[in-house]
Amino acid sequence: MRMTLFALAALLASSSALADTLVTNANGIQVDANGKVERFTGILIGDDGKVKRLLHGEMLKLRDTKVVDAKAQTVMPGLIDAHGHIMALGFTALQLDLTGTRSLADLQARLKAYAAANPNVRWIQGRGWNQELWADKRFPTAADIDAVVSDRPVWLGRVDGHAAIANSAAMQAAGFALNTQAPTGGRIENGLFVDAAMGLIESKIPAPTPAEQDSALVAVQTMMLSNGLTAAADMGTAPDEWLAMNRAGQAGTLNVRIMSYAGGIPGMKAINGGRPSDWLYGDRLHLGGVKLYADGALGSRGAWLKQAYADKPDTRGLQFLTDAQIFEQANAAAAGGYQLAIHAIGDAANAQVISTYEKLTAAYGQDRRWRIEHFQIVDPADIPRLKPAGIIASMQPTHQTSDRLMAEARLGPDRLKGAYAWQTVEKLGIPIAFGSDFPVESPNPFPGLAAAISRQDMNGQPPGGWRPEERVSFEQALSGFTRGAAYAGFAEQRIGALDPGKWADFIIVDRDVGKVDAQALARTQVRETWVAGKKVWEKK
Ligand SMILES: [Zn+2]
Repeated sequence: MRMTLFALAALLASSSALADTLVTNANGIQVDANGKVERFTGILIGDDGKVKRLLHGEMLKLRDTKVVDAKAQTVMPGLIDAHGHIMALGFTALQLDLTGTRSLADLQARLKAYAAANPNVRWIQGRGWNQELWADKRFPTAADIDAVVSDRPVWLGRVDGHAAIANSAAMQAAGFALNTQAPTGGRIENGLFVDAAMGLIESKIPAPTPAEQDSALVAVQTMMLSNGLTAAADMGTAPDEWLAMNRAGQAGTLNVRIMSYAGGIPGMKAINGGRPSDWLYGDRLHLGGVKLYADGALGSRGAWLKQAYADKPDTRGLQFLTDAQIFEQANAAAAGGYQLAIHAIGDAANAQVISTYEKLTAAYGQDRRWRIEHFQIVDPADIPRLKPAGIIASMQPTHQTSDRLMAEARLGPDRLKGAYAWQTVEKLGIPIAFGSDFPVESPNPFPGLAAAISRQDMNGQPPGGWRPEERVSFEQALSGFTRGAAYAGFAEQRIGALDPGKWADFIIVDRDVGKVDAQALARTQVRETWVAGKKVWEKK
């Protein structure tokens, strides 16, 4: 199905002519350079795929121009996800989806169908089952899986990612014996591997082949384009992933724009000869930064806090690096001309990263656009330190809606003031880039836009929004997913707005996103996606 859609998209892309294209009769909306909503009625696109002129009601009399009638539909710049994991999302799309299975028999039926449809998949991987939704609530066993597939390894993750079921072939392939002990923090029961025990199998799953990576990259592009994303920052590109992206660029099959951040210092050294790359393949691929980690995540209490966890007073989470270590790594990247994007969730981690960046700014000067990824739980006293140090807050609105109850439990009521504090960041004039952290959250940016303006989830919960003083305006939200995300990738001269000289990357959607409420905004459907003035995806 996905392959068919993509083949169609490729066909559409190739039917170009050497002429200007005029998109007319558009209900256009974007954020202008001053952060205000700008309405427009048409786009004149040169045959180089870049915007020549944005129209505001005037009629153009042009010869030799291809006219595209937008039929009064809403047209907006292609959205940009400032923090995602491109290949991980692509592999998610290729794996067996078990979300919503209503019984073990249902899981088995889906597994059987997937195995039959994918005879060449060496290790069958899937995710999303939840035995709590099944009548008997019994965990599946290796024997349950063997009954359906026994000729090759099967590894199926539970919906929360904290447990997975293996079949006998998977345990055998991983060298697992009946007397193998679960590591500390893990548990094994009849083929069910919980938490730390999951690594016993996962570390033995063979790395994907180049052909499998190419398939994943095809799948992820369709997912992005169908959700209205024309670009994304890839947070932690691995060397083999970089090669896959370049293969697609060379083959002319890269239809999204990827701003790549190498995964750690080893990744930095292994990619592109240890140097940032140029903008490649018509600005579709650029390696400009390095991704580092200062701590873990809040849900598993890996986020590094200044004070103990409210719901586990014997821990403050995980400090990944000493101050000296994180400076040494960050400085190595900065000296090589890279931008830095450092993951920091807890307030102690954020304070450490800010201090690191303050030193780098003193050494390297302004406009290096140091990024903090997530910037989730921050001591309010530390937030004003960002602007003087030239730091960008890269935040994910849907993390707030997914995390709020868990965050309240982890932190207690008195430490939420600097949590997911978007409006506080805006008011201080700190640049914001919005994203989703896909595949952790859905790549669909519209629930993210809706969460940003409402502090409510898809179902409108909680009423009035969670800590609603941290809502942002519609303009600020849209900017975070367009201009702000482009700026965070040093790409604001190329993408993020339909201004003359920038790429004509735009989407046509089914409602006026500037006039609907948050619940309707979250449900916006994309009808067409255009990149560099060419239609690359269309809803069937
Ligand atoms: Zn991430």
